[in-house]
Amino acid sequence: MPHSRNQGLPEVEPSARPLDYLLNLLFPDRCLFCRTILPSADGLPLCSSCRTTFSPAGRICPQCERFFQGQTECTCFSAASPLQSLFALSRYDQQWRALLHDLKYRNRRSLARPFGVWLAREIIKQEYCAPHVVVPIPLHRLREKERGFNQSTLVACHTARILGIPCRQLLVKNKDTVSQTTISRLERRENIHGVFSCTSSLPQGFVVLLIDDIYSTGATMKEAAAVLHGCGAKVFGVVIAYNPRIS
Ligand SMILES: [Zn+2]
Ligand SMILES: [Zn+2]
Repeated sequence: MPHSRNQGLPEVEPSARPLDYLLNLLFPDRCLFCRTILPSADGLPLCSSCRTTFSPAGRICPQCERFFQGQTECTCFSAASPLQSLFALSRYDQQWRALLHDLKYRNRRSLARPFGVWLAREIIKQEYCAPHVVVPIPLHRLREKERGFNQSTLVACHTARILGIPCRQLLVKNKDTVSQTTISRLERRENIHGVFSCTSSLPQGFVVLLIDDIYSTGATMKEAAAVLHGCGAKVFGVVIAYNPRIS
């Protein structure tokens, strides 16, 4: 497995470098929800009381959008599907809405690290997949220039670092689409169709971990997965939050 060297992953994120130690003294890890200083970094960026309110999501079937109940494959699983599977850290509720809004629109880039590290640890713990590379869903270059960063790239880099694999921008978004948040499920599919292209061909059997912040109708992730699949990749999706309410 490509990330097998991480099987003996230490409980604490590898941060033995003196600079990391100093930074942690100056800026200790805090609970994502209530900002309490965390006593030790055990990988889950929530304090003990916020852990009791957290509702983890888990694996979701990209075809029927049901949560997997213990089994590793849904009955509608198809090896030919461009998006093999989907994993979400959390369901999208008020708290996650605020956090992801802070990351994207209020320039709280420091959130990318706990999200990225947390995703990586769950991928390893749940043996979700064994990727060769982590790929973020791209923004159009004008949107990225305007925002100053792509939140999915920031998260993906931290995930890749913990998994011990590269983070590569293998996709380009060629068209600046209208925001997916304001339109219906059908319009989302049409809006995003044909907007991505792959920057290189990929070796046979190449496994990609495709990262985005939110999964709603799945239009964006499925379109990106289809393009990567067309370039030869097997694609596993991960997101921070799953928001299935749009019809
Ligand atoms: Zn807390
Ligand atoms: Zn299914």
